[in-house]
Amino acid sequence: MKLDDAGGFVAEEAERPLDRRDTYGAATIESSLYEAAIAANVPIDVLMDLVRVFSFDVDFQRDVQPGDRFEVLFDGFDDEFGERVRNGEIRYASMTLSGKTLAFYRHTPTSGFTDFFGRDGRSVRKALMRTPIDGARLSSGFGKRRHPILGYNKMHKGVDFAAPTGTPIMAAGDGVVEMAERNGAYGNYVRLRHNNEVKTAYAHTSRFAKGVRAGSRVKQGQIIAYVGTTGRSTGPHLHYEVLLNGRQVNPMSVELPTGEQLLGKDLKSLQALIPSVDARLAAARDQARLVASNDDGNPGR
Ligand SMILES: [Zn+2]
Repeated sequence: MKLDDAGGFVAEEAERPLDRRDTYGAATIESSLYEAAIAANVPIDVLMDLVRVFSFDVDFQRDVQPGDRFEVLFDGFDDEFGERVRNGEIRYASMTLSGKTLAFYRHTPTSGFTDFFGRDGRSVRKALMRTPIDGARLSSGFGKRRHPILGYNKMHKGVDFAAPTGTPIMAAGDGVVEMAERNGAYGNYVRLRHNNEVKTAYAHTSRFAKGVRAGSRVKQGQIIAYVGTTGRSTGPHLHYEVLLNGRQVNPMSVELPTGEQLLGKDLKSLQALIPSVDARLAAARDQARLVASNDDGNPGR
């Protein structure tokens, strides 16, 4: 047993004690974040977590350009032979986009809700994620357009993300499932109620995730359904809507409320944590530089 971030006990997966090791990855993006991460030996599960951390601030389709950079420090758990058994939590992550750096530290304030925070104590979490799907391409924006099936100009009341059938769709925020059923032209449709004003809807899905039915609670980032092409649809995509007081608004431009701002002792405990993480980060950077220079000197390795 060990303590988790919230101070509770969690069962270890293996009987053998595993060594927790700071693991570092960094890369400059040349074509895609995905390719850069693979080249830098950043595991896919860590990359997915990284995308989740930044998905509140970054529209991965539009904002990420060649020359942008990311850096991540995460826990790796190794067995007694030094073999990686599993990866753990991200401790620090940064992205530098068009010269502007966003950096976040994992921290658990007294509320018990672990989140990522900037140095100023502002949480990364917003009320809603703008892009509730990983690695998808925005294929149709919000507004008037010629409908691909009906052929006449029609208001497009959501945004479309092209993605292969079966791609997981995440809940854009914490909420309650209002509908998870077949809904005419929307096909297999999920609607979540986040608060008194805000709802989100997900259409054309191939199927719903287990346990997602009217009345069930979902957490932000939880998988609620999978991309499909049910209903009036020309191909696999997610049609995503944000409803504000019952009216569809543009998910890409609507002002989303910002997250938590740590104050008092919560801010102090974050500020106490940051230097130790920065020191571990500096050591990991040095180690990475050393490995890189050794690799240059030893082409056989
Ligand atoms: Zn659509």
